Amino acid sequence: MAQVEVKYTQIFINNEWHDSISGKTFETINPFTEEKLANVQEGDKADIDRAVAAAVDAFRFDSPWRQMDASQRGHLLYRLADLIERDQDYIASLESMDNGKPKTMALFDVDLAIKVFRYYAGYADKIHGKTIPAVFAFTRIEPVGICGQIVPWNFPFLMASWKFGPALCAGNTVVLKPAEQTPLSALYLASLTKEVGFPPGVVNVVPGFGETAGAALVDNPKVDKIAFTGSTEIGKLIMRNGSHSMKRITLELGGKSPLVVTENVEDIAQAARTAQDSCFLNMGQCCCAGTRTFVHESIYDEFVKHSVEYCQSHVFGNPFDSKTAFGPQVDKTQMNRILEMIESGKQEGARCVAGGNRMDKRGYFVEPTVFADVTDGMRIAREEIFGPVQQILKYKTLDEVIERCNDTNYGLGSAILTNDINEAMKFSRSIRAGSVWINIPYMIPVSVQTPFGGFKESGVGRELGEDGLRGYGEIKTVVIMDREKKM
Ligand code: ADP
Repeated sequence: MAQVEVKYTQIFINNEWHDSISGKTFETINPFTEEKLANVQEGDKADIDRAVAAAVDAFRFDSPWRQMDASQRGHLLYRLADLIERDQDYIASLESMDNGKPKTMALFDVDLAIKVFRYYAGYADKIHGKTIPAVFAFTRIEPVGICGQIVPWNFPFLMASWKFGPALCAGNTVVLKPAEQTPLSALYLASLTKEVGFPPGVVNVVPGFGETAGAALVDNPKVDKIAFTGSTEIGKLIMRNGSHSMKRITLELGGKSPLVVTENVEDIAQAARTAQDSCFLNMGQCCCAGTRTFVHESIYDEFVKHSVEYCQSHVFGNPFDSKTAFGPQVDKTQMNRILEMIESGKQEGARCVAGGNRMDKRGYFVEPTVFADVTDGMRIAREEIFGPVQQILKYKTLDEVIERCNDTNYGLGSAILTNDINEAMKFSRSIRAGSVWINIPYMIPVSVQTPFGGFKESGVGRELGEDGLRGYGEIKTVVIMDREKKM
């Protein structure tokens, strides 16, 4: 079905395509067919250093990029959004082949990416400081400089847009390393930045592995900032390794987000569907997935029954089929990790009421899985699974469930389904998480205007919205002597 040609597999530096200096390549696999999709040039330290040198050059104070009028920067971003819109079908197909997600979902991601670029395009000429009259001074908000950006495989194109949008809006230069599982859509995005007319060196994309290319980006002293989305484990490593050159670091990391279903929901079957969609979206490969479903004891049994019914209704199969809601997991390693976590749930005494196995078919498919009678101490209730595995826990009072929701090192998302505004307000102020979603259909930031990020070990800084620009600017204070005025 509608496979598309892979057009770019090389390293993108200075608006040119390069083979890796080492001569090495790596395979990217289609997780639906389990077959090789393409050989991609494997960047490592030498290629990263070359890309960083290009980004440094493009950031010189007298470079075309630094001299560019801010409105023109915005215009380039608008044009980039237009080209993505022109090619959205191709990009979504490429993403679907590389990642395994249903094409309908990939189209949704691309649409969000277009919105991200348009949002930040409009901001490019509205970034300004303050005048401070006490002494005569003003502040300028200047770009941070060279931004190393490292993205994961669950939303490859969308995450690249979250990184490029604010960074380019604010006048930075970037070196992006896509995830090794899914390098193709970011390379295509790089080709569009060239077509739009970004000056050479402003955008660079180096595919490669985390321990080599990613680590080299974090180590390079010329890189001023690292923006990372990925696991908490690697986020901690990056924070340590980036500290030697005092890099600005923003991190969007893992989560074990709670979703609370109160006794005040009108329709229990609908609540069960909403909760499961919040957990299973993108085959459960969402950092903010609502994986801990807390259900009030008075509706627990009925809720579990509806959850099982809904779980058995999901259509899985070829990502290119418009009816498919579930594709495969991104790769064999992830699939095996999920199966291991499912096994631990069974071992620890949770009741597996739906799914629980690898699907008996080609592709890295895991059955959508629901566990009932889950208790707080179980591994499946504490560790991120990153797959279609829902944990349903029982609670009695709102105060008790708030305590339990907060009893985690993570703090990314949280949600409540209720018809009681007081309950919703209490929950929203008591939860220690970067987002609280009240009666929403999915736990995923679908709005570019609202900031997204984590409390605690779920991250540092915010992406999207006006707050998403903060991590890409440095404040410079300029003071002018007024000889007539006493200081
Ligand atoms: P996951 O376990 O879900 O694959 P990771 O946090 O390992 O998530 O990966 C997210 C991104 O971080 C990927 O682009 C990966 O290549 C990169 N990465 C992995 N290890 C490192 C590292 N040591 N330094 C920098 N980047 C890394």
